[in-house]
Amino acid sequence: VFFVILIVFILVAVKLSSSMSKKAMVPIQLTFKQQQQFLADASHELRTPLSIMNTSLDVIELENGDAMTPYAKEVVTDMKEEIGRMSRMVQDLLMLARSDAGSVEFEMRAFDMVPKLRQWVLAFEGVAQKKAIALRTMLPETLTVKGDPERLKQLVYILLDNAIKYTPEAGRVDIGLDPNPRQWRIIVRDSGIGIAEADQPRIFDRFYRVEKHRSREEGSAGLGLAIAKQIVIAHRGSVVLESAPGKGSTFSVEFRV
Ligand code: ADP
Repeated sequence: VFFVILIVFILVAVKLSSSMSKKAMVPIQLTFKQQQQFLADASHELRTPLSIMNTSLDVIELENGDAMTPYAKEVVTDMKEEIGRMSRMVQDLLMLARSDAGSVEFEMRAFDMVPKLRQWVLAFEGVAQKKAIALRTMLPETLTVKGDPERLKQLVYILLDNAIKYTPEAGRVDIGLDPNPRQWRIIVRDSGIGIAEADQPRIFDRFYRVEKHRSREEGSAGLGLAIAKQIVIAHRGSVVLESAPGKGSTFSVEFRV
C-alpha cells in the first residue's frame, strides 16, 4: 500500500510540475524594439520610488536625530548608500536603454575643451587627495572641438573615476589632451592595478568587472565603460587601451574631426 501511494504521489507531482512548467514556459513574443522600450520604461519608473525612499530616510534622520541609537543611525546610512548605488545603476541602465533605442539626444557644438577639462578634473581633487593620489593635467592653452559637452563630461568622469578607483594609495593619475586638430585625443593614464590582456576587450561589455568582489566593494556595477563606449561611438571616435597588470592603464580616446 505504501509503495502504491508513493508511486501515485510521484506521478501526481510529475504531472503537476510538468503542467506548471508548461504554463510558465509559454513565451511572450516581444520584438527587440519592445524589449528595449521595456528596459527604458522600467529604469525610468524605478527612479521615483528610489528618490521617495531617499527622502523618507532624510525625514527619519531629521525628525529622530539624537533619539536614534548608533545602530539605527548606521542602518539609515547604509540604506542611503545602497539607494544611492541603485539610483546610479538605474540612471546608467536608462542611459544605455535609451542609447540602444537611439533616443539619446546629442547636442553637438563647438567649444573650448581646455577650460571644461580643467573644471571636470577639479571635481576629482577631493577623492584623489583622500587616497594621496597625484592628479595632474597636461593641457594646451586652448583647443576648440566639436561634441556634446555634457556627454564628454560624462565620458571623462567615467575614465577619471575608474583611474582613481583602481589606483592604490599614493599613485598617479594624469589627464592629457593631444591637440592635433584633425585627431584630437583625451588621454587618461593611471599607475594603478592594470588590466590583463584577456580582460581588455571585455571591460567595455555591460556588467563586466574584472574582479567581481573587489569592484563590488568599490560600489561599481560594470556599466561605466559600456556608457563611455556609446558616447565615443556617437562622437565617431575610438578608444585605445594600453595596460598590463601592476603597470597601470592608459585610455586614449581619439576623435576625428
Ligand atoms: P565599474 O563600474 O566596475 O568600474 P566599468 O565599466 O567602468 O565598471 O569598468 C569595468 C571594469 O574594468 C572594472 O570593474 C574594472 O575591473 C576594469 N577597469 C576599468 N578601468 C580600469 C582602470 N583604470 N584600471 C584597472 N581596471 C579598470
